Amino acid sequence: MRRAIYPGSFDPITYGHLDIIKRASKLCDELVVGVLNNKQKNPLFSIDERVNMIRELTENLDNVKVDSFEGLTVDFAKAKDAQVIIRGLRAVTDFEIEIQIAQSNKVQYPDLETLFMPTSLKYSYLSSTVAKEFASYGGDISLFVPPQVIPLIEAKIKDKEK
Ligand code: ADP
Repeated sequence: MRRAIYPGSFDPITYGHLDIIKRASKLCDELVVGVLNNKQKNPLFSIDERVNMIRELTENLDNVKVDSFEGLTVDFAKAKDAQVIIRGLRAVTDFEIEIQIAQSNKVQYPDLETLFMPTSLKYSYLSSTVAKEFASYGGDISLFVPPQVIPLIEAKIKDKEK
């Protein structure tokens, strides 16, 4: 069984993430989306909210599973018995940090490979931060996140303003 993990914050999931999930799921027997429970990042959505959103949006992809994790990505990969870590690459700025993380992970766990997937051109500008920023100023985010996610972001932002 060739299993890959796709780790990230997904706060919240965007069309850019979904695109990587769909493409990466075709390259392995099972893809586990790992939602990082990193409280230092001060996420807008709770870990359960982020996991549930991704589960709902990937329901139709039979070999995609979603789970949360804390701590090191390599430990999550080991726990899932995965051989591959998938990361998306948008710009050169992603590359600089990603190559460093991939090489440190390789030192820690030589059997684990990191595969970088270039973003689709149409999502190369997109990040969860961009989606949240637009939403906070009442902007249209329908090109950034799936329809189910829009009211959830709007509700969170309203809550924060109270
Ligand atoms: P992290 O905080 O770990 O970077 P993110 O949720 O921001 O988590 O991203 C998770 C993964 O998805 C990363 O590999 C990131 O490069 C990738 N990613 C984010 N946005 C896009 C996008 N628009 N296109 C392709 N990959 C993306």
